[in-house]
Amino acid sequence: MSIQPAEPRRPQVVIIGSGFGGLFAAQALRKADVDVTMIARTTHHLFQPLLYQVATGILSVGDIAPATRLILRKQKNTQVLLGNVESIDLDENTVTSHLLGRDTVTRFDSLVVAAGAGQSYFGNDQFAEFAPGMKTIDDALELRGRILGAFEQAEVSDDPDERRRLLTFVVVGAGPTGVELAGQIAELSRRTLKGAFRHIDPAHARVVLLDGADNVLPVYGGKLSRKAAEKLEDLGVEIQLGALVTDVDADGLVVKDRDGTLRRIEARCKVWSAGVQASPLGKQIADQSDAEIDRAGRVLVDPDLSVPGHPNVFVIGDMMALDKLPGLAQVAMQGGKYAAKQIKAGLAGHSPEERPPFKYFDKGSMATISRFSAVAQVGKLEITGFIGWIAWLAIHLMYLIGFRNRLSTVISWTVSFLGRGRAQMASTEQQVFARIAMNRMQKEDAAAARAAGLTADEPPGGDPEKAAG
Ligand SMILES: Cc1cc2nc3c(=O)[nH]c(=O)nc-3n(C[C@H](O)[C@H](O)[C@H](O)COP(=O)(O)OP(=O)(O)OC[C@H]3O[C@@H](n4cnc5c(N)ncnc54)[C@H](O)[C@@H]3O)c2cc1C
Repeated sequence: MSIQPAEPRRPQVVIIGSGFGGLFAAQALRKADVDVTMIARTTHHLFQPLLYQVATGILSVGDIAPATRLILRKQKNTQVLLGNVESIDLDENTVTSHLLGRDTVTRFDSLVVAAGAGQSYFGNDQFAEFAPGMKTIDDALELRGRILGAFEQAEVSDDPDERRRLLTFVVVGAGPTGVELAGQIAELSRRTLKGAFRHIDPAHARVVLLDGADNVLPVYGGKLSRKAAEKLEDLGVEIQLGALVTDVDADGLVVKDRDGTLRRIEARCKVWSAGVQASPLGKQIADQSDAEIDRAGRVLVDPDLSVPGHPNVFVIGDMMALDKLPGLAQVAMQGGKYAAKQIKAGLAGHSPEERPPFKYFDKGSMATISRFSAVAQVGKLEITGFIGWIAWLAIHLMYLIGFRNRLSTVISWTVSFLGRGRAQMASTEQQVFARIAMNRMQKEDAAAARAAGLTADEPPGGDPEKAAG
């Protein structure tokens, strides 16, 4: 175990997470007289809004996931540590992270927790194996492999039922991610893959977008939801609303309609984009403080984004619950900057009582449906179609980190949207099967440990990380 820092000098700020909240907090502290330690379990800063383009072969991983260490290399007061934060101790003011058998304890004077959220299956975690979500690079690459793999398997199948099952793609959840993904799978099958197979016509692929709500993009409602649905239907996406998923298996899913009817959709490739659950670090914080968490595991923070009774601990972004703010990149970025400002105010001698409440500036939200078509809401202004799409392109480019990433993204978009090609159509067996294999191994190890009377933490084969390290 190592302890950071060995000899404390300046006030220590620890930031958990290198997503939008964590990165913006760190950057806002670049000139502060503090030592910043950013701890994250990935080496990159992930631009989640474009993950679906990695999953559908438009962008490469590097375009949307630059290395955090390189982004921050000129920020001399900041170090980046790779590690999964496993515990936060609010009494001792320490954070313990784990990397390949090694624990690191990092002391803090101020802590910014920005560990984001994962997928929620509303208590049905067993669905994940058959309907992965899309939150990480691994998710997007696995999905790319599953989507392209379904077309490949259909090409070599001579059973019409199996072909239909393989060429049916179901996206669960008609929020922005689901809409974007369904639109892209439809475009992939109708445009990019046109003429590329000899035994199937990819354009016959059935793309189903389903949701328990009454509209696609329910957060918008009204005209924007209608326009988005019309455009999706033009693309050939089948929209099923008021439909709740009750079961998922390898070959399909069971759906309950509003009238209570249960029906089955045969589909090999399913994607889950229906709900989120905040990082379990939120519960740890709540267990050690007066804070509560909501049903999605988000910490109910004070108006200054701090944890009740712990003015030096801020929870931001997808992990915080305040004023019903949505889980959007802008909320996380502005929260990160705000927390950094309060830390700097503390250094200048201001007390926590003097802090102004966090005020979110709503710059609007948008979702793209296909090439040349998006919907956007900025205040009362509703934009649809080509103009919405141009606005979407410009805003996403603006927030991508790094000139090289922006340039390569523009090139990939030009190839994909003006032409028919997609540069990132490679996928490997490991991308598709590695996680399933790892999950099964862990389950088998845990079962074997139980049978042998050991705890699940002591698998009979020993700690695989220790073996690797
Ligand atoms: C597919 C998708 C599309 C989206 N599209 C949009 C969009 O179009 N517009 C929009 O505004 N928002 C969009 N969002 C939401 C937006 O991405 C999030 O609101 C935003 O990323 C939240 O920022 P955050 O810093 O709270 O968390 P994140 O950006 O998720 O960052 C969390 C960080 O914490 C790290 N981490 C997590 N747990 C641990 C741990 N235990 N130890 C160490 N590190 C940890 C992660 O590795 C990551 O670095 C989308 C999200 C997804 C998944």
